Parts: sequence; structure tokens; C-alpha cells
Amino acid sequence: MDLDLPEELKLMKTQLRRFVDSELIPIELSSYDGPELKPEVRAKLEAKTKEMGYWNISTPVEYGGLGLGLMARVVIWEELGRTVAVPIRKTSLFGPEVSPILYHLTDEQKADYLLPVISGEKDTCFALTEPDAGSDPAAIKTTAVRDGDHYVINGYKRFITNANNADFIQLMASTDRSKGARGITTFLVDVKTPGVTLVRSQTMMMDDAPYEIAFDNVRVPVSKRVGNEGEGFRLAQDWINTGRVRHGARGLGVIQRCLEMATTYAKQRVTFGQRLSERQAVQWMLVDSYIELQQLRYLVYNAAWKHERGEDIRHEAFMAKMLGDKLSFLAADRCMQIHGGIAFAKELPIEKFWRDQRSMMVTEGPEEVLRMSLARHVLDQFAA
Ligand SMILES: Cc1cc2nc3c(=O)[nH]c(=O)nc-3n(C[C@H](O)[C@H](O)[C@H](O)COP(=O)(O)OP(=O)(O)OC[C@H]3O[C@@H](n4cnc5c(N)ncnc54)[C@H](O)[C@@H]3O)c2cc1C
Repeated sequence: MDLDLPEELKLMKTQLRRFVDSELIPIELSSYDGPELKPEVRAKLEAKTKEMGYWNISTPVEYGGLGLGLMARVVIWEELGRTVAVPIRKTSLFGPEVSPILYHLTDEQKADYLLPVISGEKDTCFALTEPDAGSDPAAIKTTAVRDGDHYVINGYKRFITNANNADFIQLMASTDRSKGARGITTFLVDVKTPGVTLVRSQTMMMDDAPYEIAFDNVRVPVSKRVGNEGEGFRLAQDWINTGRVRHGARGLGVIQRCLEMATTYAKQRVTFGQRLSERQAVQWMLVDSYIELQQLRYLVYNAAWKHERGEDIRHEAFMAKMLGDKLSFLAADRCMQIHGGIAFAKELPIEKFWRDQRSMMVTEGPEEVLRMSLARHVLDQFAA
């Protein structure tokens, strides 16, 4: 793999670096309204990204988007990772985020769901997690039972991001519990369907406020099923993989910014008659983050490069996510340590980076679960 970015991506990186430095970092401590971006802030930033020509970045060209590959998106996620101005689970300032599941829809379904999401007329959320099943999706209890030309859905979902803004839910339900994950099917469920209730939201330490949703005898026409029964995970696989690479790419930006803040502070702050930057204990913390940044960069860009070549990146994605979240949390933690007491002040972004990155280590797959899957690969690949 050529680690030098192509010219057009270098240009994009420079433009985005400027955008983050001039438009996002200056507002990063005042951009939120509860768990979301202030509407006027979002409108202003989106006008800017449109003006820069970065709109509908991942939407395929045939649907009017830029159809950027994973490499370009990694560049964007990395640069955005340098700021806490934008909520981590609804980060896109570059047009609606379209889950690739929606590209698997029938033409009729695309007209009702995909196209309105691309145009911004409809919003959506993804609902898999339940009180008794998070990392282990095979354990979900929400069922969809066929009844003539409908399915009857019963169950309870929790931690669902953006449910309050969603017009429809991409719902994962079991059509055959005896098959575990292979019995899971995706449905498009309009939020206003009788029996769907947004029960409550929970405010999290990172400022997110995901929702619990109850499904009580919800009747959904068969025409709202995505693909065939049991294909839920197969159709979501590429999304899951690229989502994991996204964690890694964001981690790069976080480490970079934490190094910027920690080195600057270490050069200024004097204790016991000497600058912190002259102390080996502090230098080694900085050097550790620097080495980890280089390691992570290779993992993340290698995953993106392979994806663009059409290769299976499942294992690369596991590693990018696991290390991206862990190393960026460590970088934020070291940045916090070097700053001492002032690190905890809400006047600096350090504590927000720390809270955000800690949560990333659990959501979309905790390290232990990723290691469990990776172990199968290692045992297959290296055993004699
Ligand atoms: C802010 C936020 C937003 C979210 N948004 C969404 C959303 O939009 N849609 C959605 O469907 N879900 C969402 N989630 C759910 C999230 O993906 C889950 O929390 C995550 O998958 C972990 O599941 P869990 O919380 O049930 O933990 P569990 O599965 O109960 O695991 C708890 C802990 O046990 C350990 N563990 C688990 N399995 C193993 C194992 N095999 N070996 C060793 N240790 C293990 C891990 O350390 C793990 O952290 C969100 C969560 C949060 C906090």
C-alpha cells in the first residue's frame, strides 16, 4: 500500500483542516443544544460544506451524490475527529447519512425511503439493541411473526440514537429465533405506525440522549421487509465494517488534537522550576501517543485501501475500531493528565474528548467482543 495520499485527497485534507480550524474549533464549546447541534449552527455549517462542494459525500453518483470511496471518507472523519464541535453519533455535516442498508431496497421501497433520506425530507434511526441484547445480537427478543401479508412485531429496543427525529426505523427483528443472528430480518417501520411508542430518552455522560422504543403488536406490511427473511446482518455487513473503520479514523483526529494541546501546554507550564516538556515522564506520554498515532494510521488507511479494492475488510475493521477507540481514549487521558486540574474545566475540550472516546470503546462493539471474533481468524490463519 502506498501511504502517500493521492493529490486530490491531500487537497481535501488541507481544505478540511482549514474548515475545522476556522469554523469548528472556535465554536466547539458552544455548538450544542442538549444532545444535538444548535439548529442555526447546523444550518450555517451545512451551508459552508455545500459551498465547499462536499455534499452527499457517500451517496453514489447515480443518486446525485459524490460517491466518495472509503479512503476519502476516512480523510473527512479524521479531520472532523480533531474537534468536539459536532455530536459523535450524528456527525455528518456533509449531507444526510444514508445507511447502506437502504441501497438494498426494492425500487418501490427506495422511492418511499431511500430517496427522501437522500433529499433530507425524511430522517431515520437504526434499532438493534435491547435491554437483554447489545453486543450479542443473536439474543434479541423482538420478533416479527408473519400473519398473511403482514408481520406482527413485538419487542423493546433501547439506546436508539436519533429516534426522536426519525420518520422511520430500520428495525432488526427476529423472524426465526432458533437461527440466532441468521434469523434476524430488517424492517422499515414508520414511527407513526400504531403500537410504536418512544418510551423515554436517557441522557448519557457524553450528552447523547438515545431512546427506548416499544413495539406492541405493530402490523407492518410484508412490502416493508428488507431483502429476505434472515438477511438482516448480511445486508448490514458493509455498513458495520465501514462504521468500524470510521471509529479508527475519528481516533486519528482525536490523537492528533490531543497531541497538539498537550505539547503546547507542556511547553508553557512550569513546575518545580522546569517546563513540563523537559520532564521525561511527560515526554514519554507524548511519545507514546505519537507512536500510537502512526500505528493507527497504517491500520485505518490500509483498511480503507483494501475496501476500495473490493477486498473483505472484516478483520482490518475489527482492529481499526478496537485500537482507534482505545488509543484515542488514552491520548485524551494523557492530555488530561498533562493539563492537571484545568483539564476538567468545561472551558477546554479535553474532558469532552475523554467522555466521548470512553463511550466509543463500548458502542458498536466492545473490545472483548471484537477480540473474540478476531481470535477465530487468528486461530484459523496461524495454526499448523
Ligand atoms: C450513546 C449510545 C448510543 C447508541 N446508539 C445505538 C443505536 O442507535 N442503535 C442500536 O441498535 N444500538 C445503539 N447503542 C447500543 C450499543 O451499540 C450497545 O450498548 C453496545 O453494543 C453494547 O451492548 P450492551 O450495552 O448491551 O453491553 P453488553 O452486551 O451487555 O456487554 C457489556 C460488557 O460486557 C463485556 N462483554 C460482552 N460480551 C463479552 C464477551 N463475549 N467476552 C468478554 N466480555 C464481554 C464488554 O466489556 C461489554 O462492554 C447505543 C449505545 C449508546 C451508549
